[in-house]
Amino acid sequence: MERVLFLGHTGENGELGRAALEALHAAAGLAEELGCAFDAGLVGADVQKAANNIGSCGASSFFAVSGVDFAEARYGSDVLAAEALCRKSGATIVIAAGTSRWMRVLAGAALRLGGRIDTHATALGAGQGAVSISRWYYRQRMEAQLSRAVRPWIIVLEPGSAPAWQGEEKAAALVDVPVEVTDAAKRTSFAGYRAPQASEQTIRPDAELLFVAGAGWTKKQADGNIHIEEASKLILDFMHKSNASLGSSKSLVDLQGEGQAVLPFLTHLNQIGQTGATPRHAKGFATCCHGEEPHVVGWRFINERRAVNTNPNCGWAQGKADVLYVADAFAVMAKVNELLS
Ligand SMILES: Cc1cc2nc3c(=O)[nH]c(=O)nc-3n(C[C@H](O)[C@H](O)[C@H](O)COP(=O)(O)OP(=O)(O)OC[C@H]3O[C@@H](n4cnc5c(N)ncnc54)[C@H](O)[C@@H]3O)c2cc1C
Repeated sequence: MERVLFLGHTGENGELGRAALEALHAAAGLAEELGCAFDAGLVGADVQKAANNIGSCGASSFFAVSGVDFAEARYGSDVLAAEALCRKSGATIVIAAGTSRWMRVLAGAALRLGGRIDTHATALGAGQGAVSISRWYYRQRMEAQLSRAVRPWIIVLEPGSAPAWQGEEKAAALVDVPVEVTDAAKRTSFAGYRAPQASEQTIRPDAELLFVAGAGWTKKQADGNIHIEEASKLILDFMHKSNASLGSSKSLVDLQGEGQAVLPFLTHLNQIGQTGATPRHAKGFATCCHGEEPHVVGWRFINERRAVNTNPNCGWAQGKADVLYVADAFAVMAKVNELLS
């Protein structure tokens, strides 16, 4: 008989993040499918608030590894916490979110437990009683279904792949799991976060909309001139008003290296595509981007696609977008920004 453990860590506010709630939804669903019990294992400085938030999730036990040693991400202490929680629960299937904190430690925990781990899982199932996961390979072009005989099996779920668990708050009785953190496990100390200003932050994985800027923004326009400043203003104005996530084509971010006029707020981190990112958003809107296959492959998980291009024969018109507006993106975005004001 399988036993499932949901493994979560708290964020800065002492609560579970969205990715953790998605993993919890998946864990609870899998346990229901298997007809088995599941536990919740929480790590953080103080996890009572997080436990109460998910108190009605149906977990049999709420195990906790908490204290100052577990406030911040650190391999040495986090791996001990994960191992202790898995042992305490005796779970055969452990489900955690693919956060940067868990991604660093769970392979180590699997090794210590004599188990196995799979990361970047996008779906879980228990068809005919056997647990299996889905995972994409070759830059999201092939999807495989895997199952394993070895237990415990740690499954790390890709954020954005499942709905987030929602439910009533309820006081949860925590079972403290003691973990001894030796000095050797504390050699790394947390100094702080270094992150761009909120106004400079353009990559927003949780955004409803992906807005893609292509190289056309930097090309000569109908008047024979380039209009970089106007393009920058239109794009940033839209970003501020819409809270969308900003993606780019490879051509646009490559221009910088070629010494051409560029949009300064775009880097290769914004690049979507075969050699870029494959984000997940409900909607996507491509502007001044041709829609070539190596770019569009990065749109695999974008549900509703629209594009604006002056060329009616661009790639988006070849079945790659749901709606193509054959229009000048400068004029379209100026109007959109005006409407959003
Ligand atoms: C191995 C390999 C990997 C690659 N990986 C990636 C990848 O990960 N990501 C990626 O993006 N590309 C990738 N590419 C490159 C890809 O094939 C394209 O070259 C690239 O995506 C083109 O970028 P673009 O559409 O922005 O530019 P362009 O092809 O230059 O297209 C610009 C578009 O803007 C339009 N336009 C111009 N002005 C306006 C206007 N005023 N209003 C509306 N439209 C306008 C034009 O009609 C044109 O369609 C890869 C290529 C290879 C060979």
